[in-house]
Amino acid sequence: PGFTVAIVGRPNVGKSTLFNRLLEQRKAIVDDVSGVTRDRQYGIADWNGKTFNVIDTGGFVAKSEDVFEREIRKQVKIAMEEANVLIFMCDVTTGITDLDADVADLLRRSSKPVYLVVNKVDNHERQMEAAEFYSLGFEHIHFLSSMSGSGTGELLDEVVALI
Ligand code: GDP
Ligand code: MG
Repeated sequence: PGFTVAIVGRPNVGKSTLFNRLLEQRKAIVDDVSGVTRDRQYGIADWNGKTFNVIDTGGFVAKSEDVFEREIRKQVKIAMEEANVLIFMCDVTTGITDLDADVADLLRRSSKPVYLVVNKVDNHERQMEAAEFYSLGFEHIHFLSSMSGSGTGELLDEVVALI
């Protein structure tokens, strides 16, 4: 129950870093929901007095590239069902990869709002490099550094406005 935000994207883009930041700063409780695998982590966050559930996806280990891709697609599909809003995270340091493009294709079919988040935009140079992500064609796009927290406030303001 309640409003749910899921963070999706391929491994290493910084999903768990953002997830932990959302929970930590807002003194949220991390739930150990029984029956839930390590594939997904559930938490509760609070921003400006608005509380919402957050799902961090992708904590799986894959043995091969095929399994890997299949697993990411599965996680994205589950998140598209469970969440009210999707945060699609990419990494400015790698640019758009084939896996990013795959995930983008799935998410474009979602009837739910998708926020494209370009992470690791730690400085001004990276801000310039991040422009290529507009080509993915998402209406909502944010550039942030989950590590430092810069840009996360603007993203959260927009997300909680939907609650
Ligand atoms: P996940 O696999 O998508 O959950 O990614 P993680 O949150 O585990 O992060 C992967 C790596 O990227 C870690 O080494 C993080 O410290 C690093 N990372 C995450 N966010 C940022 C960021 O904003 N800037 C930089 N430079 N590194 C980051
Ligand atoms: Mg992770």
